[in-house]
Order: sequence, then C-alpha cells, then structure tokens
Amino acid sequence: MIVTSNDKLQSANNAFLEFFNIQSVEEFNKIHDCIAKLFVPNNGFFILSDAIGDECWTDYLFHHSEVVRIVSIMDLNNQMIDFELTIKKIESESEYIIVFNDITQFIARKNEYKYFAYHDHLTKIYNRQRFDELFLKEVENKRRYEDHLSILLLDIDHFKKVNDTYGHYIGDLTLIALTKLISKDLRINDIFARWGGEEFIILLPRTDIDAAYTKAQEIRTMVESHVNKELPSITVSIGVTEMNNSDTTKTCLQRVDKALYLSKEKRNDVVKVI
Ligand code: GH3
Ligand code: MG
Ligand code: MG
Repeated sequence: MIVTSNDKLQSANNAFLEFFNIQSVEEFNKIHDCIAKLFVPNNGFFILSDAIGDECWTDYLFHHSEVVRIVSIMDLNNQMIDFELTIKKIESESEYIIVFNDITQFIARKNEYKYFAYHDHLTKIYNRQRFDELFLKEVENKRRYEDHLSILLLDIDHFKKVNDTYGHYIGDLTLIALTKLISKDLRINDIFARWGGEEFIILLPRTDIDAAYTKAQEIRTMVESHVNKELPSITVSIGVTEMNNSDTTKTCLQRVDKALYLSKEKRNDVVKVI
C-alpha cells in the first residue's frame, strides 16, 4: 500500500518496501521517478503509455473507471506479479492511496480455464467447441475470398483393440503421440481438433479436394510407417471432402462423415466424397 502525490511516492507500507527490497520511500524515489514505469506489458494490463492526455497516471486511472485496474510488475526474481489496484483520492488533497493486491494466482487459474475451454485436456489440440467456432470463421473467409476449404475426418483403426491389449494408459499415450505426429505435418493455418474419442478433424484452408486427398494420403502413410518402440503401431482411416457454395457446416460435416464411413470398409484408407 502506498500514498502518492503528483506521481511521487509519499509513503509505503512494509510489504511494498519488501517487494522491492528497499529500506525507505526515499531510497525508492532515488531509483524510480515514477512507479508506473515499472508496469510491464502483460495480457493487455494497464501500462504507463495507456494514460493518454496530460493527466498523471494516478489521475487517469481514477477518472477512467472503464480501464481495468490490473498491472504487472517484475519482482526481484524476475517473476511477473499481477496486481489489482484500488485507488482512493484523499479528500481535498492531490494525494492518492493505492492498494496493490497480488492476484497472480487468480490470473494464472483464469488463463488455465480459458486454455482448457479451447483445448482438449489429453492431447492439447483444439477441442470440438473451438473447432466449431474456427470452422465458422473459415467458412466466412472462404466465401469472402472465394477460396477453397477442405476437411479431413480421421479415425484410428481398431483402437479398442489397442486399449484391450495394452491398457487405457498406453491408449492415451498413443493418442498424444498421434496428435504430435500429425501436428508436425500441418501448416500454421490448418486447424486440427479432437472430434471425440479417437477421432480427429482437420480443416485445410485454401486447399481443394485433390490437394486435401494428397495430404490425407500423406498422413495415412506417415502414421502407418511411424515407429515408436514404446507404443503400439496404428493405422488411420480418413474421409475427405471440400466445402461447396451450397454447403452449410452441417452438410459438409455429414459428407466428410460419410467419406470416413466409406474409408472404414477397407481401413487404413482414404476416401473422398465430393
Ligand atoms: P474402428 O476401426 O471401426 O474405428 O474400430 P475402433 O475400435 O477404433 O472403434 P470403436 O469406436 O469401436 O472404439 C473406439 C475406442 O476408442 C473405444 C474407446 O475406448 C477408445 N477411446 C476413445 N477415447 C479414448 C481415450 O481418450 N483414451 C483411450 N485410451 N481410449 C479411448
Ligand atoms: Mg471412432
Ligand atoms: Mg476407430
């Protein structure tokens, strides 16, 4: 907790001095002319340059209640610490009392929740909800730029047997290894998500059905020939389709599902449906 006046530190409690490992307010003022210069950019939290106009940053924050009053400061171990600020003006004075409340843990937990709202817990690739959102965005891009958009639906062959033979834990590791293998083979703009269980979906923007089919064959043979001494070998079947102008996301997904179903007749196969 501190008291400031026109940006100068007037007084501070022990917790504040300890944070910077200093003995007194005077010592702090000798090193720093403005505490807000210690706010580092993080998560879009407040930094000094956000205070526009000629107000001092304390006046700015006090008068702009819409600004989120969270800042990050590096501690002595170079760890970013997030603080929520409470600012109170001392009646008829130019002084402010500012309380820095450490909310680092809370922010970390919030980011974690946000991460897992979008990502699959096991494989860390996108989950189905996130895929649905990104799919809609890609459909919009396809329409705007009159571009191609293809989709692959992939299912591991006889995966139940993997679990039955090696156990669920090895089954899980196999799923993780597969997603790593495929991720490495995709472009930055491709969207890779866990569709459910041992099924995965891949959106290929700016890719027509022939190129998508080639990509699917490349993935299929890569998985078939991949050797990991600690894990069982697997194969995958892949359905391929391209979104057309009369498609909705639903009809496109139905078609790729049909293609996957047809690929399961042989297994370790790729089938495209136009
Ligand atoms: P098919 O070739 O017809 O696809 O046969 P399959 O055995 O792969 O298909 P099925 O749908 O019968 O079985 C899917 C299996 O995937 C059963 C389920 O236990 C397993 N599975 C789904 N999710 C997970 C998971 O998160 N971890 C593990 N270890 N297994 C999973
Ligand atoms: Mg399946
Ligand atoms: Mg399967």
